[in-house]
Amino acid sequence: MTSTVDALGDQRTPRPDPERVARWCAAQQWPVFPLAPGRKIPMPGCRRCRHNSPAYEPHPARGCPCLANGGWCHGFYAGTLDPALIARWWSDPRRGVAVATGPARLVVIDVDRHTTTPPEDPETALLPGLTLAPAQAASVRDGVDVLRLLARHHRQDDPVAGELTLTVRTPSEGIHLWFRAPARTRWYSSGGGDHRGRRLGWQLDVRADGGLIVAPGTTTACGTYRPIGPVRRPALLPVWLATALTATGHLADEPPPTAQEVKVPNRARAAAAGVPDQHPARDRQGWAQQSAATVLEAVAECGRVSEGAGWSAAVNRAAYTLGGLVAGGHIPQPAAHAALLEAALGARPHKESAALSIIRSGLAAGTRRALHPKDER
Ligand SMILES: [Zn+2]
Ligand SMILES: [Zn+2]
Repeated sequence: MTSTVDALGDQRTPRPDPERVARWCAAQQWPVFPLAPGRKIPMPGCRRCRHNSPAYEPHPARGCPCLANGGWCHGFYAGTLDPALIARWWSDPRRGVAVATGPARLVVIDVDRHTTTPPEDPETALLPGLTLAPAQAASVRDGVDVLRLLARHHRQDDPVAGELTLTVRTPSEGIHLWFRAPARTRWYSSGGGDHRGRRLGWQLDVRADGGLIVAPGTTTACGTYRPIGPVRRPALLPVWLATALTATGHLADEPPPTAQEVKVPNRARAAAAGVPDQHPARDRQGWAQQSAATVLEAVAECGRVSEGAGWSAAVNRAAYTLGGLVAGGHIPQPAAHAALLEAALGARPHKESAALSIIRSGLAAGTRRALHPKDER
């Protein structure tokens, strides 16, 4: 059994062994594939599968026979948990390890610290959907500052201190925050460059479906990706980040809503996406996060006792409250549903159908009574 510190290394480990890193990732159920020596791009595929080869034959990656034959063609499509394949691929220890974030059910926030000039209209361009105060916007130097502003907007602690989740420092001083995707949710990677397509914020890149992330412990020509802080496992994607990712278009419509899921007004989602950065709004959002956290914690609490312990009642109460927050426009419905299901199954892993049914009726009941902070009623 490989211990995490042995596998991933820490500040004192000069260069962790890539095969052990790959085995540790596979043990977390994260499909791995090799990186070109010294680089953070996948090993090039065979002549037939490589786009820039004269022998290239256009074909879809899915179903490519190379993958069935244990080849690493097509980058993250090759991701594997197979110990024999891992032993073969990393027989050359110069190859780094990458994780296929989509099938690993991971959402990784890649926080850059590039010394590029901030956008010209920083108040609105640093964080899409939010309008920052000029002083706040002017204080931003890099992605770490942007993520801290986003966290503060949601009244959260410093997210890059290493306490929140598995946190990895990159050789270029960037930060990777690793999270688990909530059950039954699928998240898109950020698209295109800084100013095109889907994005969470300036110098903030999202790696999820269709993405890859360099595994902690991997060494490239620039240095080693080092886990920092005490946490070595990804936390569940927190509600505040799920909310921000939903508002910026990163939540996929799939898996499609089942008949069991409730319909809520689109207005709620739109309202959550457009909360302006003013004090009353910020207080409102903090209040909503706190209300949600309190009832979800009560559900998690049931997991510490084996049976009974009012699990159904706690799930129902949480669903009712979150339904009210959804209807009030404080939390997006998919984030509420995902958070509820995750908390319910975290406490009682084998009760998925009961959980879905209680969440459905609780959310439906809650959405008939929108919740607002006391002073606004
Ligand atoms: Zn091939
Ligand atoms: Zn191929």
